[in-house]
Order: sequence, then C-alpha cells, then structure tokens
Amino acid sequence: MLFRLLVTAAALALTSAADAAPVLAPPTDLGPDVTPFVKVARGRIAITHVRVIDGTGAAAVEDQTLLIDGPTITAVQPASMPVPDGYRTIDGNGETALPGLVGMHNHLFYLQRPNIDSAGHFDSPIIVPQMTFSAPRLYLANGVTTMRTTGSVEPYTDLSLKREIDAGHLVGPHLDVTGPYLEGPGAFFIQNHQITSPEDARKEVAFWADQGVNSFKAYMNITRAELKAAIDEAHRHHLKITGHLCSVTYPEAVELGIDNLEHGFFVNTQLDPGKQTDKCPDTIGDPTIEAMTPGSAQANALIKLLVDHRVAITSTLPVFEQSVPLHAPLQARQMDVLTPQAKESYLYLRNLTAGRAGTPRGEKAALAYRNDIGLERQFAAAGGLLIAGPDPTGNGGVIPGFADQRELELLVEGGFTPLEAIRIGTLNGATYLGLADRIGSIAPGKNADLVLVRGNPAADIHDVEKVETVFKDGVGYDTAKLLESVRGRYGQY
Ligand SMILES: [Zn+2]
Repeated sequence: MLFRLLVTAAALALTSAADAAPVLAPPTDLGPDVTPFVKVARGRIAITHVRVIDGTGAAAVEDQTLLIDGPTITAVQPASMPVPDGYRTIDGNGETALPGLVGMHNHLFYLQRPNIDSAGHFDSPIIVPQMTFSAPRLYLANGVTTMRTTGSVEPYTDLSLKREIDAGHLVGPHLDVTGPYLEGPGAFFIQNHQITSPEDARKEVAFWADQGVNSFKAYMNITRAELKAAIDEAHRHHLKITGHLCSVTYPEAVELGIDNLEHGFFVNTQLDPGKQTDKCPDTIGDPTIEAMTPGSAQANALIKLLVDHRVAITSTLPVFEQSVPLHAPLQARQMDVLTPQAKESYLYLRNLTAGRAGTPRGEKAALAYRNDIGLERQFAAAGGLLIAGPDPTGNGGVIPGFADQRELELLVEGGFTPLEAIRIGTLNGATYLGLADRIGSIAPGKNADLVLVRGNPAADIHDVEKVETVFKDGVGYDTAKLLESVRGRYGQY
C-alpha cells in the first residue's frame, strides 16, 4: 500500500512538472505551409559585411561576418577574416543584424466592437476574435521571433497553434502561451471565465498548467486572496504570472509575490481617490498615474519596492499612445493589412481622440503618458527589469509586429537610447523568460533568431521598420511574402 502511494505521488509530480512544451522547441523540418515563406534555407550561412547590434546594449559593430550553422550562431567575426568552406554567403552590406524581438505583451486576437459608428457607439458584447492566421505571420514578418501571448481568450487554440508552429506545420514565432485571463465578475469581454473564489482561481491555474500553458496573467477584477491563490499555484507549477491589475494595487501585488506587472505604471490604482480594497475603481488608475510624477516620494518608494522584489515591468507604449490626441497615424503598410471594417473602426476611434486635443481629457492623457515613460526610465535606471510589448488591442491602431517596432521607437522618443530600447525589446524579455542563454542577443552558441534590417537602428531607431529577412532557428523568412499573405486580413482571422 505504501509502495503504491509513493508510486502514485511520483507519477503525479511528474505529470504536473512535465506538461508545458518549452517556449523554444527543438528545430524541425518545415512543412508545405511554411516553406513558401522561406528565403534562406537552414544550413551553413555566412552573412558578410553586416553591422551587428548584439542586444546587450553594447555599441553597434561595423563590418562583421555572422556565421550560422543549422539553428545556431557559431561565430561573430570581423569581415576581414575568411569565411570557412561550405558556407553560403549573404551580402549584408548596408544592413544591420539585431536579435529577434522578444515580444512580452503580444496578443493573438483582435478586439471587436460590434456595429461601431463614427460617434464611437457600439453594441454589446465586446468580443475578441482570434487572429490565429494573421497575427503569427505579422509578428514574424516584423522581427518578433519569440513572444508571450499575455492573456488568452482561446487557450486551446493558442496551445494548438504553438504545437503546429513547433512541429513546422505553421509559420510563426516561438510562443510562450499564457493561460486565460484570471478574472472575476466584471470581465471586459464575454469569453472569460469569471473566478468566484480563491479555490476557483487555484483550480483554474492548476487546470491550464496541466493543459500545458507556459505562463499566467491576472486581470482587472480579482481579489487579493484570489490573486494570492493564483500566484501560489502558478509557482507550484514553476510558471510565472503577470498582471494587468486594477482591483489589486501594484504594492499589494508585489507583496503577494507577482512576477511582472503589465502596462508600465498606467494601471496602478494605489492613489485613486476612494479606492476600496479588492475593487476596481471606475477611474482604473488614471488619478494615480496623473499624480505620480517621476522622482516624487511616492514614485521612489514604489520603484524601490518593485526592484527589491525583482518584479519586472512591461512597457506597452503603443496602446497608450493611441489615447494621446493627434498621435502618429497608422502608416500605409499597416493600413494595408487591415480588413475594411477594421480600418473604419480604427479611423472612427482615432478621430474621436483627435477631437480631444486641447481639452482637459486630452491633456490628462498626455500627462499620464509623460509620467509613465518617466517612471519607466526611472525604474530601468534603478536596476528594474523593463521588458516590452505593444498590446494589440485598444482602438485597433496597434497592429501585431508593426507595433513591436513602434514600441522601440516610443522608448527612444521617451529618452532611452536606441541601443537601450533594443535591449529592452530583446535581451530583457529573454532574461525574464529565463532564456537569456539561448535567445535575446547575438553571440556564438545562441539560437540563430535574428533580424536583418536595412540601415542602422543605432543611429535612427525607425530603421527597425526596414526588415528584410527574419531568421528563426537558422531559417530566414521573407518579410515581404509574409506581409503579402495577410493583406486585408487582420481583423477577420
Ligand atoms: Zn493586453
């Protein structure tokens, strides 16, 4: 009997620890739905005369040769050194190699407002259709080689997508599949399970951990006790948990043991007037970010708390840029991938925001944005781990992949150097995922996950938009072909 009990316990322990597929699956052969997008087949490849930005924050190095053997980078050497026999040569003149982006807030869905009109009215319920076809292509095409889904609406779909990508049947980045939003009553979209107790939270985490998700995310309406139960259960499965919080303040979540907080400092509610414990106020953090000036006593205390507890912060500037009046419009290349309905919806909402220029509401949005980027800089300067992802939701103006590039540009607009921004978008994300020995920078022995862009993003960060080829596991994907395959599709599937 005792023997039997021990065997059962061992088997159980094994099941719960072995379920999640690794974020970085072993490279495989590619199937017929993937090969049309391959520009450079896996093999021995020498990219010569290329500028290298390695992702560590170090200065760009001119005129290098990158040697790739199979899925792995084997050398980074001056172009004056000879290329060994048996390598195919790609001329990297005028191009820069940087690590594949590690997108840390990168959804696989679109936010649909049924029957939206020019006044911004729409019918209930808000629904969130999966972009399982277009989003992975958009991410990879634009340089994202690894991404976290950071809240799932159809976790089985996302898990299957990961399995199909890892098997070489579908094209897309390495996926860290996040479980369903851990959310109580009051969920923003209707597809969510509504947690009713700490035990319910624990069971939801345990169930999805057993189904193989890689991470978890808590959402806006969850109690401290439920969040604590979710954190403990996630950690019991050796998985990390982040939060886009509201009912729980940042300091409360830090004390409960959360690993990461989403949306920079925008959604902290600790200074919202009348904040009740365990309740998300209607103000959803706006008064807190408007009041929390970088360098203020409250900002300093919060940042010290975050850094002391090693809680990472995810910068999601593109989605907040959308609420600042007269923000940059979508470029033609981005409009091209939207469905006609998605274009219309985006333009309606953009026009409404533009109408707030010079109004108190518009000024507050601009103030919140300024405070947030200042706090992100202060957090990073204090030694905090700042990671990045665009959060493709909001008004429809945050497009997968394109917005990952925009995030880097906005970090630079906000005062980071281009090299710092690239590190935040690459090595820092890999560090959070515990994969910094494999991805996130360009170095011998690392995965050949890298982006070739025309120009020099160290001099002008906008050059990160000029992607020509994206290498994932040593296979070079054709950005133009991937984008062409989703023209007019984003918003539909
Ligand atoms: Zn999000």
